[in-house]
Amino acid sequence: MKIIRSREMLAAEIKGYQKKQQSIGFVPTMGYLHEGHLALVAAAKQENEIVVMSIFVNPAQFGPNEDLESYPRDEVHDRKLAEANGVDLLFIPSVEVMYPENLTAEIHVKQRISVLDGAARPGHFDGVVTVLAKLFHLVQPTNAYFGQKDAQQVAVVEGFVADYFFPVTIRVIPTVREQDGLAKSSRNVYLTAQERKEAAVIHEALVKAREQLSKTRDREAILANIRSFIDKQTTHHGMVYLDMYQYPSFEAVTDWMIRLLLPFVYNIRRPD
Ligand code: AMP
Repeated sequence: MKIIRSREMLAAEIKGYQKKQQSIGFVPTMGYLHEGHLALVAAAKQENEIVVMSIFVNPAQFGPNEDLESYPRDEVHDRKLAEANGVDLLFIPSVEVMYPENLTAEIHVKQRISVLDGAARPGHFDGVVTVLAKLFHLVQPTNAYFGQKDAQQVAVVEGFVADYFFPVTIRVIPTVREQDGLAKSSRNVYLTAQERKEAAVIHEALVKAREQLSKTRDREAILANIRSFIDKQTTHHGMVYLDMYQYPSFEAVTDWMIRLLLPFVYNIRRPD
């Protein structure tokens, strides 16, 4: 596995792949790798001749009071995991490499972001598409891999790539979960033992929501039930949002759409 930190050396490698007409699967990440990231790598490996992964904690997608400084990082561990899972090229740029100058033109996302993370984290998705525009130009991937865990991110990225004709196919990979159903996430390390135990309620609640969909199409009733289920199961009341929307518009769900769309947005698996 090659580890590259400069744009120039990356460009030379990419040129080499293109000369050999090799397809490039790209997995953009912020590092602190876990099995969720590795599922993206596995899909990229299956569908492309070359797998490029980037590790970059992108300041542009963090708000002023967010966890940019404390975001978990472990490059040694990430390098081992990436290599063991067949990544061919690991791109680890610094902030100076990705943002050498103040931007002359900024990208602003205006659809699909009025709710959920888009509302809770103003400017977050602007930062996401800004860094992706840069990374897509540098890596020139055939396919780029994203997790369904971040469903709103996928909707924004798909819209952005379609708007600006980026010659890349976006591939969406199902959420990888812990044994108790919690979605794997680098940020799970922030949880105390008690919070980690209680976090399993999120997946339980989503499974319950799916069950209720077979009995009612009343959106407000389902949300109220789920909210009280979560409240009863937890001592830590830190819920930022709970809602359901159409995919990919992230507009309010109309009743007739509930059954069709909720399971997709949250990727709720049917019980085996
Ligand atoms: P991050 O490093 O958190 O920015 O994530 C990089 C990519 O991995 C994003 O496309 C995420 O959606 C995806 N990802 C993160 N966690 C998971 C998971 N548990 N299952 C599937 N994909 C994931």
